[in-house]
Amino acid sequence: MVVVLNSDELELVYSRVYHDIFNKNAEFVVKYYSYAGLKSRIKLESRFMKKKFFIKLSDGFVDFPETFHVALAHILISKIMRRECPLSYKRIYRKWVNLESSENIHMDLKRSRGHSIKDCPEGKVYDLSDSFSRMNKYYFDGVLSVPVLKWGNVITSRKFGHYDPSNHVIHVSKTLDSENVPLFVVDFVMYHEMLHIVVGSKKKRCNRVVHSAEFRGLEKKYESFDEAKAFLEKLG
Ligand SMILES: [Zn+2]
Repeated sequence: MVVVLNSDELELVYSRVYHDIFNKNAEFVVKYYSYAGLKSRIKLESRFMKKKFFIKLSDGFVDFPETFHVALAHILISKIMRRECPLSYKRIYRKWVNLESSENIHMDLKRSRGHSIKDCPEGKVYDLSDSFSRMNKYYFDGVLSVPVLKWGNVITSRKFGHYDPSNHVIHVSKTLDSENVPLFVVDFVMYHEMLHIVVGSKKKRCNRVVHSAEFRGLEKKYESFDEAKAFLEKLG
């Protein structure tokens, strides 16, 4: 019988592998995502002397056995730490991914989700779903339901985001998906668009007021409001 590992158990697998290699501890956050295809990613955040790794796995890997996940952990950790990964783990990885059943999972995911590649919330640098869940947690008690999140060719030089209420879509300008743009700026644009979901627009003397006084007041609650605003103004 194949034992299926959940995120917590996977985090243990990754911590153990890391400890085996470096004889040190590090923190791991492992999550499954609905990628189009069997994919895996790793990201590292270092703060002071502490290392925190973020692993994103295609949910197509859910049914894979622990031996596979141990091998993948070795491969991903080696990759980001720039060390050579032992061949034995690469073999295990390839063995599982090349199985006909895996090939089928991969093709199924690609077929059913292929369209989502171009609408993917994950950009080259930033992932809009991360921004959304962060802002949702900090400012909205986590109560907002996830809209469709898209990087777009937005919009005007002064506008970096847009909320489309009829399709429940938040667009964020691709200009912001860049190493030169700080995370708190992307988060701010996301927060602004999320306020549109919450506040809606009001009618005032026949004109729709989108950024009401109430809206502007809430917007200022953003922790780095002034810095974010100044950055966007310069960019525009
Ligand atoms: Zn707005």
